[in-house]
Amino acid sequence: MPWTSSASRALLRQLREVMAKPNPGVAKHEDIQSRLDEIVRIIAVNMVAEVCSIYVRQNDGSFKLFATEGLRREAVHETHLRAGEGLIGLAARSGTHVNLSDARAHPAFSYKPETGEEIYNSFLGMPVTRGGRTIGVLSVQNAVQRTYSEEEVEVLNIISMVTGEMLAGLLESLDDSVEERRGQSVSVKGISMSDGIALGHVVLHEPRVVVTKFLAEDGSAEQLRLDHAMTKLRERVDKMLSDKELARSGDHRDVLEAYRMFAHDRGWVRRIQEAIVAGLTAEAAVEKVQAQQRARIMKQNDPFWRDRLHDLEDLSNRLLRMLTGRVGTASEMELPRDTILVARSMGPAELLDYDRKRIRGLVLADGGASSHVAIVAKALHIAAIGQATDILEEVDPGDPAVLDAESGQIHIRPSLEVVRSYADKARFRARRQAQYVKLRETPAMTLDGQRIQMNINAGLLVDLPHLEESGADGIGLYRTELQFMVKSTFPKIGEQTDLYSKVLSGCGSRPVVFRLLDVGGDKILPYLQTAQEENPVLGWRAIRIALDRPALFRTQFRALLTAAAGRELSVMLPFITDVSEFVEARKLMEKDIAHLRRHNKPGPSKLSLGAMIEVPSMLWQLDELLCRVDFVSVGSNDLFQFLFASDRSNNRVSNRFDVLCPAALRVLRQIVVKADEQKVPVTLCGEMAGRPIESLALIGLGFRSISMAPASIGPVKAMILATRAEEIQRYILDLMDHGREDIRARLVDFARAHDIPL
Ligand code: PEP
Ligand code: MG
Repeated sequence: MPWTSSASRALLRQLREVMAKPNPGVAKHEDIQSRLDEIVRIIAVNMVAEVCSIYVRQNDGSFKLFATEGLRREAVHETHLRAGEGLIGLAARSGTHVNLSDARAHPAFSYKPETGEEIYNSFLGMPVTRGGRTIGVLSVQNAVQRTYSEEEVEVLNIISMVTGEMLAGLLESLDDSVEERRGQSVSVKGISMSDGIALGHVVLHEPRVVVTKFLAEDGSAEQLRLDHAMTKLRERVDKMLSDKELARSGDHRDVLEAYRMFAHDRGWVRRIQEAIVAGLTAEAAVEKVQAQQRARIMKQNDPFWRDRLHDLEDLSNRLLRMLTGRVGTASEMELPRDTILVARSMGPAELLDYDRKRIRGLVLADGGASSHVAIVAKALHIAAIGQATDILEEVDPGDPAVLDAESGQIHIRPSLEVVRSYADKARFRARRQAQYVKLRETPAMTLDGQRIQMNINAGLLVDLPHLEESGADGIGLYRTELQFMVKSTFPKIGEQTDLYSKVLSGCGSRPVVFRLLDVGGDKILPYLQTAQEENPVLGWRAIRIALDRPALFRTQFRALLTAAAGRELSVMLPFITDVSEFVEARKLMEKDIAHLRRHNKPGPSKLSLGAMIEVPSMLWQLDELLCRVDFVSVGSNDLFQFLFASDRSNNRVSNRFDVLCPAALRVLRQIVVKADEQKVPVTLCGEMAGRPIESLALIGLGFRSISMAPASIGPVKAMILATRAEEIQRYILDLMDHGREDIRARLVDFARAHDIPL
């Protein structure tokens, strides 16, 4: 029969009546069964099908026949199809309809004699989904060989949505299958972004909209609601695109362009409108079209379209949130005290919107180890993993979870044993941390009386309390760019002054070294215009930008001078590749100092200017550099990435060399010797300083000042307190001079033999 929208609406109306009909005095099971029986009967009649059946997904992924019109009644609750078995399994697995005129000839056909279905040739199966998951399959069959028309497919699709709503409710009350499904443990793997162990409950950063009303009372009112939400959605996307701050960077812009393409796609809107005409509410119509598109795209192997699926899902979710008026993120909600936040992706500023006290962990489907949100997670001491690609498909809000950011995975709905073992692990870490807290007031002095300056690396105001908590001597590296990266526009001079002043006040009498903007490479400011570069890590970055754009550089320096008024100020220049750059930068700085004097403004009580040694070319200009600077700081992360030609953010190559090899150690030793000769203070602020075994080597090489992540202060100090500097110096210089290849292993033996905790 040709389907019209009024026929579809009439069918939906009948189904609604079945669902709404009170059945007083009837036992729950019977009530549900009789409603399902009625539903399949109505569908069969309306669709002129000899058979209509509902199969329900079981916990093990199999499907059980729950109701049928046309097949043998004895088969109900008896016929089972294993996961993926038969045409039912095929429809469930593919997430889309299966339309066959000769079902028995299909290779997936599975014959179940108890059903008596051998006489039916044509088959149309439609997955029944709820919240993106297949919970059942609805099928119609006819004896004649025929292909079901597009309209029939469409109608069955709409019915399956309505049935999905009902089935979900039934399953929850019928048995514990939904609870059990939630009870199944799964683990999702990602990469570590911020170390830590967290036990808690899942909260979705962008709450899912669960559509609860499927059948429209008034079709034209629903169309109006859709128009209104669609206009708002388009405005929002256009605004994001015109917003320089959001749309500038390459990847982000691509995503927004894709959003715009979909938001203005007439086909998408038309399909939603048609579903409303057929009798659905606007929300149900959006969800229906979303499910269809998902199924279509999932069939393609092209990664481009798989990526676009994320975009499309995000956009559909936005539209749903606009329709329901729930536009905010979970940061505006009441959160549990042990929240594990889950999101597809998140910007650093968005994470800062949350109440830190309630967030224990963060899991992102995208997001890399060096992403900006990872930097903020580290600063906030939130355990975090990224690239957990399947996370959104696997979690439900409220799920208990254990996040192990040490090994980069999350265990969702974990078993009791898993929870117990992680609780032990978390307790062990806490105990160790408590021991380090006891060391807070103890000066970092080796057994033979060498005082080691221990500083922390910082970059956000939230880092300041770590100074007190860790008992560090000061801030050895304040990465000023972090504050710029979490902003949406370039911070004005007053804002910068205010920030630096807060940092200085927060440090009190403890020294802090401000590093001038080190942007470029992987540190992108969305509002700073830069050309696309083939090789940005070797491109226009840090001091190169500063010297080409002196206004930017001088604004920052002036802000620092003003903030320091009457206090000591230490400023360090990043990424110096030639001494002339330092000389040129100092000239610019002198102009600002003179400007301050001319205007009788109070400047710093003392100004120290230093340079980072993080580009190998500096190793052959040490004499020229050291006679011009007040101090130097070795940026071992960059220095070794360039020295060993191994991208520091690429796990495949970054571990191919060991920083405890003769080449790396000789470089470091040479810097210390030269700096000592010229009496220039030298420190090292790369990641290696935070690893006890590597900092043991640094002490042996002659470093007396190191700077690291706050969490490393405790373990490194414990190592220092048990070490004799003279002994380790003799030992390591000997290994280095002999070009030993097993230095790391030897150092471990040395530490063991001398009771040095690593
Ligand atoms: C370094 O390169 O070692 C360093 C400390 O600077 P960043 O990690 O910020 O590049
Ligand atoms: Mg660096």
